[in-house]
Amino acid sequence: MNQRLENGRGFYEASHIRQGEIGRSVHCADIGYACPMTESSKQHAKKSLGQHFLRDHNAIRSIVSAIPEGVTAIEIGPGPGAITESLLARAIKLTVIEMDDRFASHWQDVAKSNPELSVIHGDVMKVLEAAVASVQPEWIAGNLPYNLSGPLTAKLAGFNLSGGMVLMYQREVAERIASGPGSKVYGGLSVLVRHYYDVKRLLTLPPGAFVPPPKVHSAVILMTPHGKTPACSYEALQKTVRQGFAHRRKTINNNFRGELSAEEFEAIEIDPRKRPEQLDYDAWVRITLALSKD
Ligand code: SAM
Repeated sequence: MNQRLENGRGFYEASHIRQGEIGRSVHCADIGYACPMTESSKQHAKKSLGQHFLRDHNAIRSIVSAIPEGVTAIEIGPGPGAITESLLARAIKLTVIEMDDRFASHWQDVAKSNPELSVIHGDVMKVLEAAVASVQPEWIAGNLPYNLSGPLTAKLAGFNLSGGMVLMYQREVAERIASGPGSKVYGGLSVLVRHYYDVKRLLTLPPGAFVPPPKVHSAVILMTPHGKTPACSYEALQKTVRQGFAHRRKTINNNFRGELSAEEFEAIEIDPRKRPEQLDYDAWVRITLALSKD
């Protein structure tokens, strides 16, 4: 048996040895997945926790190589460690946040002999702010559980990291995040992620890149800081965007009825007959500033 597995470390390692063809539906056992509780992924991958484990080496390489060696980072949902192992191999000082008891206790064991690794066992939605405040990460990475991707991204986009974020999403969510004004899928998240970051799609992956395969394609998004000082706070922008996109089919004038008049929209160079999906980031900031003037 692989020495690292006997040590209780690196249970993703075996999948590196006998990786099956991408696109083929496999059980974890088929790819030599050595984690005892994921021997038969169909039974053991928890759907409720969005567990689809990454097994595509090119994807792992792209995600990990976007993050410079030696930085401080947080990984959300390490699971059995597809990304985690490679981040640790890059001498990254890593804190992982994991809700599943099985994976959390595995990484706690690994951390006993690896001072570069810390583990937070909990729900990322509850512990993220405190984790970021104490770890002060330069980077955040994660193959995110799909069920949390919207609300989690709204939280993540509010952190002004010096490095950036590499995050895996369901393809439709990634398209939404990366889209610009005028696109059908442009929405609140597309605006919020631009507060601190430039956004780029790194790669798209088919369902077979994961075990068990999800029903949809996935995509990796890279967010890097644009370095401009925002003119309003993230919280204020979030409030404006939530209200402004509440009724996508209504005009912007209608969505802010009673708060901003048509004349006030014109004063900030926005046509009040426009719909929310037609406004770019700068327009949303101007609305936010106009709303705060009382
Ligand atoms: N990083 C692994 C990979 O790429 O193979 C696993 C990714 S899997 C899509 C999502 C991971 O997030 C799982 O390990 C799951 O247990 C964890 N997770 C799900 N919901 C979570 C939550 N609310 N808080 C923390 N971790 C969570």
